[in-house]
Amino acid sequence: MDGRELLQFCSNDYLGLANHPKLIAAMQDTAAQFGVGGGASHLVCGHSSYHHQLEERLAKITGRDRALLFSTGYMANLGTVTALLGKGDHILEDRLNHASLLDAGLLSGARFQRFQHNDMADLERRLRKLPADGNRLIVVDAVFSMDGDMAPLAELAALAQKYNAWLMADDAHGFGVLGESGAGCAEFFGLSQQELPVLMGTLGKGIGSFGAFVAGSEALIETLIQFARPYIYTTAMPPAVAAATIAGLNLLSEEPWRRQHLQELIGYFREQAQAFALPLMPSNTAIQPLLIGDEQAAMALSAALEQRGILVSAIRPPTVPVGSSRLRITLSAAHSKADIDCLLAALVEVLAA
Ligand SMILES: *Cc1c(COP(=O)(O)O)cnc(C)c1O
Repeated sequence: MDGRELLQFCSNDYLGLANHPKLIAAMQDTAAQFGVGGGASHLVCGHSSYHHQLEERLAKITGRDRALLFSTGYMANLGTVTALLGKGDHILEDRLNHASLLDAGLLSGARFQRFQHNDMADLERRLRKLPADGNRLIVVDAVFSMDGDMAPLAELAALAQKYNAWLMADDAHGFGVLGESGAGCAEFFGLSQQELPVLMGTLGKGIGSFGAFVAGSEALIETLIQFARPYIYTTAMPPAVAAATIAGLNLLSEEPWRRQHLQELIGYFREQAQAFALPLMPSNTAIQPLLIGDEQAAMALSAALEQRGILVSAIRPPTVPVGSSRLRITLSAAHSKADIDCLLAALVEVLAA
């Protein structure tokens, strides 16, 4: 920044793949062959063999019948929720869901309820009171983007089953990172397509590329192709991006050390932060926010860290509730243990000041 090098702890490039030579080469080679632009929407003539291959890979990795690519996660959420629900239907969202899911719920025209964060009793109370008519969709972030904690997906799946609702999980921060093979929240919790019928993931975070997908049944994917307007009415992502994404997916199995290293860094950071009595939040993922509270204080701490060569942005309302401003620290497989030590030393200094 401004000619200075900073050590960065706030991107979502959890596996450090965004700069991987294999992703770069895949993008360069495919651009040389197919050009830069997607040229048209998927349904017109923008759907290349790379897009198709990528969809097939995503279905296989997630253990779903099919997957559909979207240009961004925001559009995937908007498109999916509005394709599945309309007036007379019901949507129940965790109150800490990502903005794109909240916007999607509002845009759908369905009756919208937000339940208390990860509070299954509150959700069940609301499900019990729903009228008999209309479709029901429960939607959560699998890993909450600003808190780093996980949704209790197994319990959510059981409630969805009991109350005849569909369950949708947004795995933006889990896909590539969670689960034995990096397949994300469904693998982590061992949830089948029947238990978790609408699985959305993004490709611009753990996978180091760009774009998003929804995976599920044949009927779900056909419904999205027909009714998800942010899928239909937009230019397909460039084929070179799809090719780079395939290279990123290959690396999930080629370089499993990235997930292991990240897990080690998470454990090390939490252990050290606890020893220094830093205000950790209850998270076991790569998102390790420090709760500060006051907006000005969070801004000042971020600025003080920057002076010490560390980049961590402050997250403030309306992204998080008033009074819960925080330093959203994210860890990556691209970090070393020495990097974490630098971060910790700087944090201890600025928090003591
Ligand atoms: C980042 C994010 C999105 C949006 O994905 P993009 O591909 O960046 O548009 C959606 N949901 C969650 C939970 C996210 O963190």
